[in-house]
Amino acid sequence: MTRGVRMVMLGRQGAGKGTQCVRLSRHYVVPHISTGDMLRAAVREGTDLGRKAAELMAEGELVPDDIMIGIVEERLDQGDSTMRGYILDGFPRTVDQADALAKITVTRPLDVVIDLDVDREVVLARLASRRMCDDCGANYSTHNPPKYGWVCDNCGGDVVQRDDDKPAAIERRLAEYEAKTAPLIAWYDERGMLEIVEGLGSTDDVLVRLVTIIDQRRGS
Ligand code: AMP
Repeated sequence: MTRGVRMVMLGRQGAGKGTQCVRLSRHYVVPHISTGDMLRAAVREGTDLGRKAAELMAEGELVPDDIMIGIVEERLDQGDSTMRGYILDGFPRTVDQADALAKITVTRPLDVVIDLDVDREVVLARLASRRMCDDCGANYSTHNPPKYGWVCDNCGGDVVQRDDDKPAAIERRLAEYEAKTAPLIAWYDERGMLEIVEGLGSTDDVLVRLVTIIDQRRGS
């Protein structure tokens, strides 16, 4: 069987992280751990976490570090991650989260951190056209809609625009990214862990670029 991988995917909202992480997770047979998906599931289920996170998420603000670090630590402790690895998507988002992740992974360090690089103007256009299944989180867009109306091809759920993909929230999320998450690119570069991958092009082309870099880093 293919060897697993332990990696973090960085990149602006709308850079294509979710799409590529799903495909990478199949390729390397490791879980795709998206903190955004975990939070949206908690909101849908109405858990304590979901209630705390819902308003912050709708406003495009970050959920506090201590909550996020606890969630991720618990998830990385599960058997699938400890055995084969994982692809972290949406975490870390602040230097404090990156520090905590370094401590959590001290015995099994990351193989690589990738910055999926797409310009701000391009992601703005992509986010405006993005649509998502309310039930299972599958991604669509106005250019790539479900087959029948706005009903999910996978689960029959409603396909809608996320509240945080509406213009005011997008501006806030991109500003949060520049202020709090973009500094992680230099942080990981200083530690020799960063690879920058061009995120423009077809999904197949970007996937090939990613797999090539990841395999080089893992030495396989
Ligand atoms: P995403 O789907 O990754 O864009 O995440 C959606 C929203 O969930 C973000 O705008 C934040 O409100 C919240 N969120 C996800 N991951 C994190 C994180 N690592 N730290 C803080 N907030 C997060």
